Amino acid sequence: MNISVSDINAVIVTHEHTDHIQSVGNLSKKFNIPVFATLQTFDAMPKQCEKISNNNKKNIDIDEKFQIGDIEILPFAIPHDAANPCGYTLFAENKKISIATDIGHMSNYILKHIDGSDFILLESNYDPEVLKCTKYPFKLKTRIAGSTGHLSNQMAGQTINYLINNRFKKSYTWTFK
Ligand SMILES: [Zn+2]
Repeated sequence: MNISVSDINAVIVTHEHTDHIQSVGNLSKKFNIPVFATLQTFDAMPKQCEKISNNNKKNIDIDEKFQIGDIEILPFAIPHDAANPCGYTLFAENKKISIATDIGHMSNYILKHIDGSDFILLESNYDPEVLKCTKYPFKLKTRIAGSTGHLSNQMAGQTINYLINNRFKKSYTWTFK
């Protein structure tokens, strides 16, 4: 985005899995950047927390709005195998952005949060048929496809279909299988 790292005002953490937080401690320490996460998430990433000054640790709660600059942010719970994982909806200048990654399965609660967004970052992680045929260990396959793993391509497709239809037809309902 052609901005310097030192221009970053804050980092908001969804959950403590390494691929999401690997550098957050160093980033916060080096550039004095506040880190926003739930208490349980902070507790689940002690190595990162050692590097983050107490001043830069900002506790947030699921379903409680907080503010960074002129952006209002609402964390919502997601089904994922982490301490207290969440997604975020961000509101500014009459626009809504939703960040929804690492979701084991879609739910009406999440749909309600991300519905009406101007932009959604939705992670879809695997095709169930392809996953069955991969050489991954059985345990990993079960984890990915489990209800607290990741969203399948099919379910992401259903979600997008729902959200698009919902914009035009308020009565449209969808049952997730
Ligand atoms: Zn994860």
